[in-house]
Amino acid sequence: MSARERILELDRRFLWHPYTPMGPYLEGPEPLVLERASGARFYDANGKSYIDANSSWWCAALGHDHPRLVAALTAQLSRMPHVPLAGITHAPAAELAAALVARAPSGLSRVFYSDDGSTAVEVAMKLCLQYWHQNGRPERTRFVALEGAFHGETLGATALGGVETFRRPFASVVLDCIHVDPGPDGYERAFAAMEQALAGAQDSIAAVVLEPVVQGAAGMRMYDPALLRAVRELTARHDVFLVLDEVFTGFGRTAPFCAAEHAAVAPDVLCTSKALAGGLLPFAATLVSERIFDGFLGEPERAFFYGHTYCGNPLGARVALEVLRVYDEERVLEGARARAAVVARAFENLLAIPGVTRSRALGMIGAADLGVRAGYLEPVGQRVYREALARGAYLRPLGNTVYVAPPLNIPEDDLSELLDIVEASVRAALA
Ligand SMILES: *Cc1c(COP(=O)(O)O)cnc(C)c1O
Repeated sequence: MSARERILELDRRFLWHPYTPMGPYLEGPEPLVLERASGARFYDANGKSYIDANSSWWCAALGHDHPRLVAALTAQLSRMPHVPLAGITHAPAAELAAALVARAPSGLSRVFYSDDGSTAVEVAMKLCLQYWHQNGRPERTRFVALEGAFHGETLGATALGGVETFRRPFASVVLDCIHVDPGPDGYERAFAAMEQALAGAQDSIAAVVLEPVVQGAAGMRMYDPALLRAVRELTARHDVFLVLDEVFTGFGRTAPFCAAEHAAVAPDVLCTSKALAGGLLPFAATLVSERIFDGFLGEPERAFFYGHTYCGNPLGARVALEVLRVYDEERVLEGARARAAVVARAFENLLAIPGVTRSRALGMIGAADLGVRAGYLEPVGQRVYREALARGAYLRPLGNTVYVAPPLNIPEDDLSELLDIVEASVRAALA
């Protein structure tokens, strides 16, 4: 048995894959067996390479083996891999907190660390609930989120989720959340619905939680930043917190460093993860306003009794700090601007293919919806996935939305090859 066959055998016998119907998986074609990743590419056990079209679930924004990130991680690893953050501090955690506050929208002045996007959101939810609980508004226990929203996997974050399939099994046990339909285009209907949700109910609402400007998991749905600005004004008027989940949209994915900048708004709470530690390690931060921080001062029982074992992990913090330095010193956002224009043009051109019903692009995101053509056993998104794999790109669709969200510094040759593969694969799948 070859090493590759052994991996496949162990996988089939013992592994349970995320977001994967395992019955069809076990019957289906072999998964990729990867051996290494470099730049914007993976390499499989046969030496074939694949362009990583989605930055490995949106986190490897600087590619897979950026030498500065690897060096920072290695140096920290030999010095101090992990210590707790209770009663202890260290340079990576303190320096990173300062650097994040300096980069974040104004008014966010304190940083709470956790492990991943879901826990960054969980922290945000608990902070909002506890703040109101001990600051005179204990009846504020509900949240407002958008239909189609995705905020992570914990039971708290599941309550905010607006993807019906993910929510349904837990609907009877999760926190109360009002879901507002953002509508297919525009924002006026969504804003009216948001206004209605808050009017009358504002006394029971702890926070509005939004993915700013792009709802990733919903299928790269993009909405007008004017909605964000309007919701900021609305929440301020009702004195309800606004939580922005920048777990996907942060770190220049949509062009500016934070997507909130499209609307020139500052939230009360901001969640970040994914690209924060460059795809090297799980790491997350929740940034809050001084008002929220102050709401936990005073008697010891007013403290935030919360903290994951690896909270502020020195490896993650040190890599994240290096990520921020690379963004500055390598002018990553400026470099992404030219690439973003190439992505936008390629996705615009996809509209010429019969069966492509919509296309859109923002920053380093391009997405196209494919009309469902009758007569195929396999959904069309899956066909594109297979066609792209055969051509050397890992291009997992979201349903029938085909998208790319490659590393912001993807080499230009790789980007044009990727976009050619997208076009050829969409054509082949719809032919
Ligand atoms: C991925 C994602 C999360 C969850 O992050 P994990 O690291 O997978 O827990 C939360 N919010 C948004 C917007 C995301 O894209």
